[in-house]
Amino acid sequence: MKEAKALFQKLKIISLLDLALLIPSSYNNTMLSNSIEMGKTHTFEGKVDEVSNINGKLRVSFWLPHFNARLTSMLFRVTPYHRQLFTLGSEHYIQGKVEDYKGSLQMNQPKSLKRIGQLIPKYGTTVKESSMRSLIECYVNEQSLYAEGLNELEVRTLLGLHYPQNMKDVEGYDKEVLKFVEAFNHMKKLKGKREDFPALEALTGELMPFTKGLPFQLTKEQQSVIYEVQQDLKEAKKAAKRLVIGDVGSGKTMVILAAAVMAYPSRSILMAPTSLLAIQLYEEAISHLPSYMSVALVMQGKNEGDYLTADFVIGTHAILYKEDLPRASLVMVDEQHRFGTKQRAVLENMMAEEEKKPHFLQFSATPIPRTQAMMQSELIDVSLITSTPFEKDITTSVIVKEDFPELLESIKDEIAQKHQVLIIYPLVEESKEIPYQSLEESRGFWEKKFDNVYVTHGKDKKKEEVLHEFREKGDILLATTVVEVGISLPRLTLIVIVGAERLGLATLHQLRGRVGRLGLKSWCYLFTKNKKNERLKSFSQTMSGFEIAKLDLQFRNSGDILDGTIQSGMQFKWLNLGEDEHIVKVAKNRVANL
Ligand code: ADP
Ligand code: MG
Repeated sequence: MKEAKALFQKLKIISLLDLALLIPSSYNNTMLSNSIEMGKTHTFEGKVDEVSNINGKLRVSFWLPHFNARLTSMLFRVTPYHRQLFTLGSEHYIQGKVEDYKGSLQMNQPKSLKRIGQLIPKYGTTVKESSMRSLIECYVNEQSLYAEGLNELEVRTLLGLHYPQNMKDVEGYDKEVLKFVEAFNHMKKLKGKREDFPALEALTGELMPFTKGLPFQLTKEQQSVIYEVQQDLKEAKKAAKRLVIGDVGSGKTMVILAAAVMAYPSRSILMAPTSLLAIQLYEEAISHLPSYMSVALVMQGKNEGDYLTADFVIGTHAILYKEDLPRASLVMVDEQHRFGTKQRAVLENMMAEEEKKPHFLQFSATPIPRTQAMMQSELIDVSLITSTPFEKDITTSVIVKEDFPELLESIKDEIAQKHQVLIIYPLVEESKEIPYQSLEESRGFWEKKFDNVYVTHGKDKKKEEVLHEFREKGDILLATTVVEVGISLPRLTLIVIVGAERLGLATLHQLRGRVGRLGLKSWCYLFTKNKKNERLKSFSQTMSGFEIAKLDLQFRNSGDILDGTIQSGMQFKWLNLGEDEHIVKVAKNRVANL
């Protein structure tokens, strides 16, 4: 086909299966009808036995030999074409909606069909139906589908949908088959996308001195991820490329430290999104790493230790601008979802040497469904940490205005126990679009009623200082969603999220993860105007980030305002990443064996 390329572009199609998966949205049934049902569209064979003009309209009567009946048609939009078409004695296949008009059959504005006996697909895409049908006829056939690696059932199902022989083909097909083809197509596209490079060197440092010195036992999941990382780092032929995903508080820092230990005596570099987080990681490194390892901290305008000689360099993105940053064989990025793709790659590339690359580990606190992880693992190795070292005891409730007095009591209770409270507002300043109080409108209330109230928000230049001071001296922190970044506030036991229904579940989960970090009994209050919100209800019933990632997919079309936390480019028509783990597994295997 000549214009196929342009059409593919218009349809955003890049593979044959993309095209085959564009199944018709409906069909035009041109099979001759055997029986008549009023109000339904029918196709009849008929002969014109009377034509008359009535007030500019055309009335045509047909004799239907099959039914031994007469049918009358009114043509309201009459063109010369119609007058020529429906001449007395001419025979037609007519199609249209049949109605009962005073006891006789009526079909207004009938179409005269050239061919009958088919189900003609209607695709409803952005290209013309006729072009769409030509594309399908040109590319989607038994041979091409088998060549893609599909089996007989899959080929028959797809062909049945594009070239149906009867209604059974289009009504009785198995949706699971389409799910599979969709998964298979996706995995096929990812295949071969992964690019591996030789490592700068194999890293085989002793882990024991680190694990022995820890004040606690590593969890099973921490151990198994550390083992996976160990296997990665041992490899000289292939630089590690791994994403470790674990809920807030799942203990990813231990994996980071273990990796640095295994890299020793070679150097590791870790980049964190904020200076507060960098400092925290630095402090943890100092207290948990074996004493023979030296650690340095690099931030804008402030350093600790000597980064030129340290075994483990921790920093903010300020390290990207250090021209004398020494070589490292292991590069890590914490809270990787807070960096842009380019920023993450810069550090890796800074350390590259000819075709060799450093081992590269990334850490993320944005859980994704297992199925999605399985897909992503075509591009990058993925490790999941699904449990937390502490059983977090957080009670989540959906509250409304009437519950406010009770909420105030709970807040007072917590503060009396030297615990801290966090209140999240949707906006800094008043806005007509949001039916909730803003940070600035509410702060007076809290400051009058309580001592040690701190306030910060996203654009606040002193944000990190405020958080730092609050950690030591504060009772109540009023903030916008800035505190999402993983700073540790161990005494935080109560969080109120104002206008919770406006936030995505992933964000709510991150926010809730701020409280009860060390296992203290904690509370999360979702303040909303709509107590019946199903999304918030489901959220309040689970603590697992991986469950919540699934929920997020389920509620994706719920009309709630989401905040774009769902990864794009992972949208499927049939496949449900929350449920179809098995299908993805089978598809992945089939692709691997192609
Ligand atoms: P995150 O995955 O959010 O980065 P962290 O690494 O900050 O989580 O860990 C959260 C807390 O749990 C820290 O205080 C850390 O010291 C503690 N922790 C980590 N692993 C364990 C463990 N195996 N047993 C007990 N506490 C642990
Ligand atoms: Mg962390």
